[in-house]
Amino acid sequence: MDLKSQIGALAKLQELDSEIYALGNEKAAKPAEIKAIEAAFELKKTGLAELEKNSLEVQKARKEKELELATNAEGIKKLNGQLFSLKTNKEFQAMQQQIADAKADASVIEEKILLSYEESDKIKAQIEAENLKLKEEERNSLAQKGVVESRIKEINDRLSQLEAQRKQILPGIEPKLLQEYERILHSRGGLAMAKVKDNSCGGCHMLVPPQVINLIRMYEKVITCEVCNRILYIQE
Ligand SMILES: [Zn+2]
Repeated sequence: MDLKSQIGALAKLQELDSEIYALGNEKAAKPAEIKAIEAAFELKKTGLAELEKNSLEVQKARKEKELELATNAEGIKKLNGQLFSLKTNKEFQAMQQQIADAKADASVIEEKILLSYEESDKIKAQIEAENLKLKEEERNSLAQKGVVESRIKEINDRLSQLEAQRKQILPGIEPKLLQEYERILHSRGGLAMAKVKDNSCGGCHMLVPPQVINLIRMYEKVITCEVCNRILYIQE
């Protein structure tokens, strides 16, 4: 195989590999993108969790008040029972006062229970609104994930195409040269073939002396850049 055609094949291979490298990098970043979308959605659930916690606390406090009211009612009933067994008018009046006080306490508790029901209704409405909002957020989140996932599929499809094209080029390159190309490709961030343009290396932009350009044109051996070690070639 003559070197000129092999260098030409390598330049074509490089075109494919550059795209393969770029797509590989893009694909590698996708799981983190999906995780970020999921994390953002999880964060949006904290508002609802907080409301649900509040709702339980309000209910618990109300149960306590209701118990308190029941105890109070029992106390009043007991005092009422005792009322007519009292001997003096003074005792009677004192107990009537006690009953009146207990009833006043009861109405304060009742008022608090009423307010607590209003509070519960308010929280319930907030929870419903938050649930609706979250459903919308979930749809958005799933749509965003769908975009990323379909891009991953697109990348995979394109990578299979590129691999197939790659296989067609490989027979035109001697195994030893191909091995050298791949070694440089992996150590030089996906760019092994540097096109010489305006007397400089397309990989590192350093000047390529005229005598080196002459050597490249002779196609007697593979010429690499002295600075970045990439294989130099000239687009004829
Ligand atoms: Zn270079």
